[in-house]
Amino acid sequence: MKTCLIVDDSKVIRKVARHILEALNFNVEEAGDGREALDRCEAGNLPDVILLDWNMPVMSGMEFLRSLGASGFDNRPKVVFCTTENDVAHIRAAIDAGADEYMMKPFDRETLESKLQLVGVA
Ligand SMILES: [Mg+2]
Repeated sequence: MKTCLIVDDSKVIRKVARHILEALNFNVEEAGDGREALDRCEAGNLPDVILLDWNMPVMSGMEFLRSLGASGFDNRPKVVFCTTENDVAHIRAAIDAGADEYMMKPFDRETLESKLQLVGVA
């Protein structure tokens, strides 16, 4: 069973994503901001894939991505970046910082499943 860490400050988004991921047979973990997610990873709790929000308090998605890259994990998790803005500059910056894929919020099961396939975890 693969593990997905949902990193989002919205409880509603985490709940929706968890529902979809559990139906796809994922083991699901949650973090409310980038700092909490980074702490989990640095404690050796590395998921197979991360769904990462852009705007979060404490540590944003971009800051998390840069820190994850700088940590130099051997088996770095795949990262699907989630944004509400269809902004090419944002998306470009996320990919440059190490995101493997991105998707627009709100997302449905079909979109999430296709992104998980694209990064090779589904
Ligand atoms: Mg947010």
